[in-house]
Amino acid sequence: MTSASADSSMDFDAIVIGAGWAGMYMLHRLRLLGLRVRVLESGGGVGGTWYWNRYPGARCDIPILNYAYSFSPELVAGWTWSERYAPQPEIERYANYVADTLDLRRDIQLNARVASAVYDAGNARWAVTLTTGDTLSGKYCIMATGAFSEPKKPDIPGIDSFEGDILYTARWPRTPVQLTDKRVGVIGTGASGMQVISALAHEPVDRLYVFQRTASFATPAHNRPMDRSEIDAFVAGLDDYRRSIRRTGSGMLQEGPSGPVSGLSDSDFEDRMRQSLRIGGPSVIGGIADLLSSEVANKRVSEFLRRTVREQVKDTATADVLCANGYMLGARRILLESDYFEAYNQDHVTLVDVKRNPLVEITARSIRTTAAEYDLDTLILATGFDSGTGAVLRIDVQGSSQELKEAWKDGPTTYLGVMTHGFPNMFMIAGPGSPSIRSNVMVSIEQHVEWISEFVEYLEKNAVRAVEPSEAAEQAWTRHVADAVDATLLRRDRDTQYFGANVPGKPRVYLAYVGGVDAYRIICEDVRDKGYEGFYFNPESPRRAATRLAWSGPRDDGSISMRFGSPVI
Ligand code: NAP
Repeated sequence: MTSASADSSMDFDAIVIGAGWAGMYMLHRLRLLGLRVRVLESGGGVGGTWYWNRYPGARCDIPILNYAYSFSPELVAGWTWSERYAPQPEIERYANYVADTLDLRRDIQLNARVASAVYDAGNARWAVTLTTGDTLSGKYCIMATGAFSEPKKPDIPGIDSFEGDILYTARWPRTPVQLTDKRVGVIGTGASGMQVISALAHEPVDRLYVFQRTASFATPAHNRPMDRSEIDAFVAGLDDYRRSIRRTGSGMLQEGPSGPVSGLSDSDFEDRMRQSLRIGGPSVIGGIADLLSSEVANKRVSEFLRRTVREQVKDTATADVLCANGYMLGARRILLESDYFEAYNQDHVTLVDVKRNPLVEITARSIRTTAAEYDLDTLILATGFDSGTGAVLRIDVQGSSQELKEAWKDGPTTYLGVMTHGFPNMFMIAGPGSPSIRSNVMVSIEQHVEWISEFVEYLEKNAVRAVEPSEAAEQAWTRHVADAVDATLLRRDRDTQYFGANVPGKPRVYLAYVGGVDAYRIICEDVRDKGYEGFYFNPESPRRAATRLAWSGPRDDGSISMRFGSPVI
């Protein structure tokens, strides 16, 4: 596998940080503009999330045809997926296929961790320095660092004294891990935990202890093999698909029933939910238009999902603990499961309720809760990430007059989730304040990359040295992002990773725009059509002082939609 090396010429038009979906597509688009680009990737291969998260059971939880790139019919047609929810090894191979097909490797530098990015206002250029000390320079610095790329180590007393193997799902080793006949503990029952637990429950481990603090809501994935004809049909309808996906709120196409559920009779509600469950996938919940606007709907669906848990788990006490409680459905990610709940019917799988009996300490060979001690050979941490901002803030980013850590000390502020005031020529892909982690991120990434490349083309054609959003536009957008949350039931549960609550000391600011992928795209296009309203072109000629935002109210079907109002210049 060849890749770019730290060569003699370190000056580029653009430096892209990260070679996941966002970084690879960004590189491709910027190259089409004739720009000289260098991508810096800390991993030893491409794929971002899908390079690092290689734990047993890791697979996408959005149908893979909707979760792969859609911008190139050739790229889509040239790859055959084996399953509807493709497993990680296949997705990682796909990332390599994309890198090869688009000839990306020569501009991607692997094993290159960025330590700092410093803006030089005099030259309007970024100096990006690696942990090796090498410095590269670029007019544009593009953060394609991912929303879930900075793993979070749990703060459990004694964790460093454990003498068995500690494995992070987000940093799973590339060499085979031997778990046969081992006593394995898993901490964490979010998306990663649920997948690794389901997989290991079917492996010949001696015991599997699941330490659960918060139960997750989940619906069945109903994964199945895919044949070539399905892919060919998708390619034939690709243009229509691209058009339709843009009009969705979530970046996903709905399968099966959709519409509000609060007004349905009990039997109609039950029929509708059972029909959705037979189809499975994200559409079970995605079709509930009033999930985040009606408490009645939300409670009704929550109770229904709890009932499905009780139907699958034989031991009633275990089933009770597995039923998500104490937060609103949708406040945390709703998961897709494959035989997850049924795993607890096996004798060697034990659920430990660490909400009721909290973890006390990890010793050399065990985990102790307030009620019992569990001897372990291997401990798996599926404990999540410093989401949304962790990877960017890990880099020492210094703008024209301030550090990013300082600028965001009360939470991230952005304009459209794409740029931030005081950091000229620095773009973010799927950054905080964009739909990113509350959408099909691939759709959001493609939209961002295409919008940013058009913008860069405009800047280059108009010989703009430096661009940044006005403070007023940024404040207005940041307020709008918060208003969008407050317009939904999401405002009630602030104790979630989406609000940054899983990281001690992190400001409680909602990390994504929940107004919808469709509304967001219209807003971005509107900003573009108005000559990139809200941005300063060159610090010496500020224009477009402010932008007013308006709330358009719920859509007719009860779901949420936001839009920009008329500008105030
Ligand atoms: P997560 O959703 O943040 O889950 C972390 C889990 O660890 C939670 O159950 C949390 O419990 C638990 N935890 C953390 N610290 C703990 C402690 N000290 N003691 C006990 N429990 C502790 O992280 P994730 O599962 O890695 O998922 C993160 C995001 O990655 C997801 O939202 C999803 O978007 C993405 N993801 C996607 C896929 C996919 O597409 N297939 C797969 C994996 C991940 P509390 O909730 O009580 O804090």
